[in-house]
Amino acid sequence: MAFFRVALDLPLPELFDYSAGMADWGADGSAGLGRRVIVPFGRKSSVGLVLEATPESTFDPARIKPVREILRDTPPLPPAWLELLRFCAGYYQHPLGAAALAALPAKFKTAQAFDPLLWTRLQWIGAAPEYPKRERVKTMLAATLAQAPQFGCDLAGASPKALHYLAEWRAAGLIGEAPAPALVVADAPQLNPEQAAAAAAVIAALATAEGKQPAAPYTPFLLHGVTGSGKTEVYLHVAAQALQRGRQALILVPEINLTPRLLEHFRTRFPASRVVALHSGLNESERLHNWLLAHTGGADIVLGTRLAILTPMPRLGLIVVDEEHDPSFKQQEGMRYSARDLAVFRAKNEAVPVLLGSATPALESYAHAQSGRYTRLAINSRAVPDAMLPKVSLIDLNVTPAENGVAAPVWAAVQARLERGEQSLVFLNRRGFAPVLSCPACAWVSACLRCTSYLVLHRRRGMQTGGKLVCHHCGWEEKVPEACPTCGNIDIRAYGQGTQRLESHIAEAYPGARVLRIDRDSTSRKGEAEALLNQAHGGEVDILVGTQMLAKGHDFKNLTLVAAVNVDAALFSSDFRASERLFAQLMQVAGRAGRAEKPGEVLIQTRKPDHPLFQAVIAADYDRFAKTLLAERSAAGLPPAAFQAMLRVEAVKLDTALAFLKAAAECGIEQGGVTLYDPVPMNLTRLMNVERAQLMAESPSRPALQAFLSRWVPWLYANAPRSVRWHVEVDPLEI
Ligand code: ADP
Ligand code: ZN
Ligand code: ZN
Repeated sequence: MAFFRVALDLPLPELFDYSAGMADWGADGSAGLGRRVIVPFGRKSSVGLVLEATPESTFDPARIKPVREILRDTPPLPPAWLELLRFCAGYYQHPLGAAALAALPAKFKTAQAFDPLLWTRLQWIGAAPEYPKRERVKTMLAATLAQAPQFGCDLAGASPKALHYLAEWRAAGLIGEAPAPALVVADAPQLNPEQAAAAAAVIAALATAEGKQPAAPYTPFLLHGVTGSGKTEVYLHVAAQALQRGRQALILVPEINLTPRLLEHFRTRFPASRVVALHSGLNESERLHNWLLAHTGGADIVLGTRLAILTPMPRLGLIVVDEEHDPSFKQQEGMRYSARDLAVFRAKNEAVPVLLGSATPALESYAHAQSGRYTRLAINSRAVPDAMLPKVSLIDLNVTPAENGVAAPVWAAVQARLERGEQSLVFLNRRGFAPVLSCPACAWVSACLRCTSYLVLHRRRGMQTGGKLVCHHCGWEEKVPEACPTCGNIDIRAYGQGTQRLESHIAEAYPGARVLRIDRDSTSRKGEAEALLNQAHGGEVDILVGTQMLAKGHDFKNLTLVAAVNVDAALFSSDFRASERLFAQLMQVAGRAGRAEKPGEVLIQTRKPDHPLFQAVIAADYDRFAKTLLAERSAAGLPPAAFQAMLRVEAVKLDTALAFLKAAAECGIEQGGVTLYDPVPMNLTRLMNVERAQLMAESPSRPALQAFLSRWVPWLYANAPRSVRWHVEVDPLEI
């Protein structure tokens, strides 16, 4: 007998066995692997994905049902993709079926048949026929195809009949498959010597990797280039070589908002190549379309956020992870994977080079570069001739107090920029108008009833009163009360300052200046972020106010001043990664200043001017700071000197969660070099009316931790009471 093990889109961890006909089995079952199948499930039928093939099943053969149909309308998911998902599921302790299905576009998991014409590049075989004008669709299709070959999917949207006509023409031999167009590389700036050396190293690896799947010599590359050093240009040069070799390139960025500009760069540089985006901002049809193009090999470049790492790409030749240090590469729900770490695995498994780029590499990556596991490629100066790294100064708030959150030297520096017609950026990583509303008479504070957090005050655009109170954790919203709900005092006050309030202070201080706030609230509608960022790039803005959304990646040519006004909180965090994150954030946001010819200036307001972190930022000395942090982490036995996994448990009552954690800690499973710490309530203990606690497992050895988890997780499945929800996060970034 022969069996397929199938993942079904159900909230169940296991795979389901179905018997396969000998024709479908092939020599070893591989004929069905990676294919969508229709199988009976209960009284209905379901669409699933064949993940494994086995000659034996552990189930009673008499009760195993046969596969109803194998769908062959798309190529099967390739073995390398199945290996990636198997690794991912194993490493992150997630059920394989759930992992695989989560990686697929929703519309691909249906029985809908896809016409292979969709991803075939079509062209007229002879001259395009002429159709009478009234045959509008045919006339249009004929003309479009006559201009240049087109993918069926690009024509399909024109009319419900489009695919039908294409099929007709194809059957009649009028159109056929067009060869891929020759690579066109538009004019590119000459790389400077440091950029050229970095590109050459990766290109050499491309050449060795060629034809040696799956065992080429391999080290990941860490492109450590200061802000404005022209890392994008290196990616473009290396990608050109991958495309030249007929391979696909996968480019990962941390944020959706960085995709439009990068797409534009790639499309301009490679006008004949197919560049597609994959991120959560696409609707299901767009996602399916781009994903299918990647999967069938029609797309040459896939540019996307973390989920794009799981895209099947049959001709994959290069992976780039831009801003590799960014925490956004970590998926925070469901399967909690790190797209950066998966990129490294995937590149190795498929024997292609991977290039991790950053001005402030993650300490993990830096440690690998120190030990020689990664090859470090450095760019130490800015790319634009004469552009310098900005001058960074601190403003000691103990000496120079702030007025409306901003100290006098910052107000003056912004004024000077206005007079010179240059742009300023005021950075404040806190959304809303004010972080809390409170009553001075009775000490009432605006607290979320569902979470251990305050409700944040949000004003309506341009308004100084009213608005709403919002929980940034659970989304709860309510109207701002007119008087204290406890004592009736009408003089309730907003304490502290978020970007909205800062924006209104700035607008008041500089009447006539064009002030633009960019944060998650001002960009919540589709297309809004792109529109606002275009205004900023287009020079239509004098003063930008914003959160970390503005800090990453953007290349504002006329921006010469960055002011960071409230950053000290991170210095007091209980999370050992807080200072690494703050350092990266400050270096990144500082890096927005002075990227072209005009020199940049950065002002940081703080009450702790002597803190070594700020000294490192002033000196722009990543290496010194990283070495200090690494030494501290080794001494304390923390990552990257150790490996961690977090068991998190949620329940209605904290005690229930803690009790299960305690049981899990005392379950008697062989720990083998793994330390289990005491269960503790999470910082944000209550979220959406559930109470949360966690327990850390830690080991100096990654294999030891992995081995322990593979014993422990089955115990958790078997022993978790119905009253709790739990998950394990491997390599957690937030403690
Ligand atoms: P990074 O990503 O390293 O911060 P970018 O890739 O945004 O830097 O590049 C910064 C600026 O330098 C961009 O305006 C880019 O066009 C320019 N640039 C890059 N390489 C060169 C080069 N070789 N010569 C001149 N300008 C360059
Ligand atoms: Zn009160
Ligand atoms: Zn809440």
